[in-house]
Amino acid sequence: MSIDLLIHGGDVLTVDDEGTVVRDGAVAVHEGEILAVGPADELRARFPATESIDAAGCLVLPGLVNTHTHLAMTLLRGRADDVTLQGFLERVLKWEAELLTPQNVAAAVRLAVAESVRAGVTSALDMYWFHEAAEQAAREAGWRLHTGPTFMDVPGPPDGIAYEDRLDWARRDLEARGTARPGTRPVLFAHSTYTLSPDQLTEIFALAREFGALLHIHASENATEVATVEVKYGKRPVELLDSLGLLGPDVLLAHAVDLTGPEIAALARTGTSVAHCPVSNLKLGCGIAPVPRLLSAGVTVGLGTDGAVSSNTLDVLGAVRQAALVHKAGGDPTAVGAEQAVRMATIEGARALGLGERLGSLEAGKRADLVVLDLDAPHLRPVHDPWSTLAYAAHSADVRDTVVDGRVLLRERVLTTLDERTVIADLEALV
Ligand SMILES: [Zn+2]
Repeated sequence: MSIDLLIHGGDVLTVDDEGTVVRDGAVAVHEGEILAVGPADELRARFPATESIDAAGCLVLPGLVNTHTHLAMTLLRGRADDVTLQGFLERVLKWEAELLTPQNVAAAVRLAVAESVRAGVTSALDMYWFHEAAEQAAREAGWRLHTGPTFMDVPGPPDGIAYEDRLDWARRDLEARGTARPGTRPVLFAHSTYTLSPDQLTEIFALAREFGALLHIHASENATEVATVEVKYGKRPVELLDSLGLLGPDVLLAHAVDLTGPEIAALARTGTSVAHCPVSNLKLGCGIAPVPRLLSAGVTVGLGTDGAVSSNTLDVLGAVRQAALVHKAGGDPTAVGAEQAVRMATIEGARALGLGERLGSLEAGKRADLVVLDLDAPHLRPVHDPWSTLAYAAHSADVRDTVVDGRVLLRERVLTTLDERTVIADLEALV
């Protein structure tokens, strides 16, 4: 039997529960799925392959998972720096109303996918307007996008769909999805507790739960947001969601920076996950999420970049380094170690999306989303510990090959499904 793809010869960081590293290992892939992970000699003999990647001198790891972003905001990269979250939102909402069309979103997403594939990011949870256009652009590039309808009750939404019509629109979207393709699940996005009322949140969450969809919402990004919600409803964002029955294992909060002890306990009790976006939080002056406390309470924490306006890149490996560094600022260098930070960008991110059985580690039966990182560089040698190399020394530019669903999207640093020059020129033409 001939298989589709064999990646062989590198050290394979499986990110399984034991943290197994297979020296001179290989990953056998067929029909988008990982068939086996093991010693290269053994897998070469067992699996003649139609296509192969020689990963000698490289580190092979699971594809990085971006658990919170707004991909098409690449359109506005560099346009709202050094402002507060509220100043940022004011500016961005105005520009979005002028700029956004399905065509522009598709062009911006193509650029975001090109950037992400180069950075070893194999999937992202993308909350944005015109998700259908984003989904099509990602599908055409062979990339894994987790997206769906977004709710945000603002006057004159860019897609022109009034709040009153959005529930029907979202229901039609969920119905049309049918059986999800492996490694994806339906998603609904509720922007936040300050742009949607408790009644609106309740009906959006009810719709998501009817379809078994993941619910993603911004929550407690900074103290001003918390105060705004508290004045309006007498409760802090996480308290409000909890009181409405809107926390749970199907809910993923973005940011969760400003949390009280009882709120952390509520997240743990309900199985709610968190998308930690350290770069965006630092840049907007939001603060530092209590990730060590979340982790010790047993909360699942993934990593996100947020949009390219608030973090300027979609570099998940950059977020790994930031996550492994920023929590030490309080004086404890054991807070969020290298392995923990890499896990947040891989298996824990997959778990945060409810897709831990299908994504996030290199194990037989999972989808073949993986990265080959070139170790042939002075800043990466010697490799005493691959977790340390990834978290503290590697850059996303060290990624040489990226595979999504068994398909090679980046080979020897060249994109195979997107014409990079055209993608950049198309975006430049819009701005
Ligand atoms: Zn966001």
